[in-house]
Amino acid sequence: MGTNVLPEIRINQTGYMTALPVFVGVLSEKSLQVKDSKGNVIIEKNDIKPELDASSGDNVALVNLGMLAEGEYTLVSGECERKITVSDKAYDAVTGALIKGLYFQRCGCGLKEEHAGIYAHPACHTAECTDWEDRSIKKKVLGGWHDAGDYGKYVGPGAVTVAHMLYAHKLFPAGCTDNLNIPESGNGVPDILNEARYELEWMLKMQKDDGSFYHKLTKDHFAPFIMPETDTDPEYLIPPSHCATEAAIACLALGSRIYKEYDADFSEKMFAAALKGWEWVEKNPEFKPFMGPREVRTGGYGDLSDKDERFWAACELFACTGEEKYKEAAEKTYELAKDPKEAEKIREMIPEPMRRFFDKIKPGLDLTQYGWMDVSGLGSICCLFEIGEKGGSILYDEVKRIFLEKTGKLPEVCRESGYGTALKEDQYVWGSILTVMSNAMSMILNRMLTGNDEMLEYAANQFNYALGLNALDISFVTGFGERRVMFPHHRPSGADNIEEPVPGLISGGPNKKMTYPETKEKLGEDTPPAKYFRDETPSADTNEIAIYWNSPTIFVGAYLNSLQ
Ligand SMILES: [Zn+2]
Repeated sequence: MGTNVLPEIRINQTGYMTALPVFVGVLSEKSLQVKDSKGNVIIEKNDIKPELDASSGDNVALVNLGMLAEGEYTLVSGECERKITVSDKAYDAVTGALIKGLYFQRCGCGLKEEHAGIYAHPACHTAECTDWEDRSIKKKVLGGWHDAGDYGKYVGPGAVTVAHMLYAHKLFPAGCTDNLNIPESGNGVPDILNEARYELEWMLKMQKDDGSFYHKLTKDHFAPFIMPETDTDPEYLIPPSHCATEAAIACLALGSRIYKEYDADFSEKMFAAALKGWEWVEKNPEFKPFMGPREVRTGGYGDLSDKDERFWAACELFACTGEEKYKEAAEKTYELAKDPKEAEKIREMIPEPMRRFFDKIKPGLDLTQYGWMDVSGLGSICCLFEIGEKGGSILYDEVKRIFLEKTGKLPEVCRESGYGTALKEDQYVWGSILTVMSNAMSMILNRMLTGNDEMLEYAANQFNYALGLNALDISFVTGFGERRVMFPHHRPSGADNIEEPVPGLISGGPNKKMTYPETKEKLGEDTPPAKYFRDETPSADTNEIAIYWNSPTIFVGAYLNSLQ
């Protein structure tokens, strides 16, 4: 086998669970043997028929080996040999590491050696920040997580990250690995909630006296690849937006329910902030898209509609209070989003050359989206698993019907992919891992509603994708897998002079839609979408990390881990 040729067997390099069937990818027509640790052949597959996978250009067969008992196995196909492990707790460590990955993103505090090991560093971003619009306002707004590869802190992306974690805890507490050796470990609160609280405390500080939330707290430019504690240029509170405010309301309302049993004061503080935020929304009902100051060149996270955020916020407040007015607000927003004129209004806001990237704007909320740009799916989770039948004909019956209809099509997407990946050929975009993990979330939620085991198998296969069963033979999670991402676009990992990147962070993955010129130059036009990836530090377009890519992966990991 030449050095540039990838192995003909693709596996989840972290391992497989005894509770789930083992899927592997085979790229040769030779037979596949599975040997146990004593060398006995326990499975032999002679009917392997690789087929062309359009996304990767590979001829590949996804082979189901069924459930295997705990142990180590060797897979043999022709010249290729690979070891896999199967255990009850295969996903415990990686799920925990993904949660702890957020600890490593903490801002405003030092990371001590006892928790962070070789990745310890002094406190960062501890100076007062300035209100961009009113420079006389100076405040200390410490805390929160660095958003991604950069050191900015953004309310909307933070809110969805926290929500994924809180719902993972709510729905599958047993799968949320505990005792992560973070500063709060052992305080009687699950560590996933300890970690999420670090962001929630910061979010509370981002609320203005009028109830709105600042959109973000960043400098006016991205830092070079330096450690966070040496990034000392001034930070600014960037003007509030509808989307940030409504996402914060939703997240804090959800938080107020989750933390009630652990800390009643904290819970009430979050609930009061959510109500105050909603009052601002009632006084300022007309949506204005976020247009950051021209001079500020950090992440925009601008959004063309706030119907999804408002829907989610109203659902969470209804779940907290049972008050009719929030139910009506959620229903009204949901119905208004169906109006084709509203969708057209959004399209018209997009400058012409960009419109082709937004061809998906269709009337109605997409109830299966959980990312920062479209949070409608978080509203779905609230409706289906928190509000329940009290939601009535729209928030329960209709949401459930549409959610099941839409998520019911996902196994077909997986079947069309040679690797069983829940991505279509044209969905390898910036941060494609979000779509993979969102679709896994959808299939998990579908299975919880229907009991359909096919959903479980395909959801698990998205975790396999993240951990190595893919066209690149690479594990996208730092610190996990024999062939793993080593050069993520992540400032501390690039600046700390440590060979291994900070562990527990997931890369955005292949992207052939909005790529950097350097990426195009290296990979050319002919490289297929599923291979449009560079494990190189400068490649933010394919290899950045982000808190809101970790979090849906935590949700999926927690669910699978809960099956042990
Ligand atoms: Zn910082």
